[in-house]
Amino acid sequence: MQKPVIVCLDLEGVLVPEIWINVALKTGIEALKVTTREMPDYDKLMKQRLSILDRHKLKIGDIQEVIGKMGPLEGATDFVAWIRERCQVIILSDTFYQFALPLMRQLGFPTLFCNQLEIDGTGRIVNYHMRMQNQKKHSVAAFKALNFFTMAAGDAYNDTAMLGEADAGFFFKPPDHLPKEFPQFPVTQTYGELQQRFAKAGNL
Ligand SMILES: [Mg+2]
Repeated sequence: MQKPVIVCLDLEGVLVPEIWINVALKTGIEALKVTTREMPDYDKLMKQRLSILDRHKLKIGDIQEVIGKMGPLEGATDFVAWIRERCQVIILSDTFYQFALPLMRQLGFPTLFCNQLEIDGTGRIVNYHMRMQNQKKHSVAAFKALNFFTMAAGDAYNDTAMLGEADAGFFFKPPDHLPKEFPQFPVTQTYGELQQRFAKAGNL
């Protein structure tokens, strides 16, 4: 008997646009365009982002305004629905619940494991709290321990441990340099290609 399947998906770059890049475009702050694609050290990246927001006096409301105008990537909602008809899906993201909410609503509120921002009474983002380190990898390992067959897809450095832990891991639209560093993960460029990979590997 085949094990039941769980698909773990990254959020930004897979289902929704990069939140910080959109904030950078909207605010014109070039330095906010840096993501985990370029800077693998997430703690360093987040500290840099928060200090930039402070310097420009940007508060949570300003960021949420930008995110509220973003939608999921074209086809993402149907893609998530396609998976949910066939197996379980969990979104594993390094973003924050305060940022993700308006986007999750548009995706039909699939389950999301992510992190929290600490915000003071004036709306200033004072700190961020990761629920745990390496949650993507640990989540997949836990699902395997619960006797699920696990599949995963992501686009950046912060997904590679998750892809490696999963029974089947795939890149989705990664930057060019990443598959060279991690040639073990097949590359997909469209939801159709990723669906085919999931269907074959997971017997969906
Ligand atoms: Mg991503």
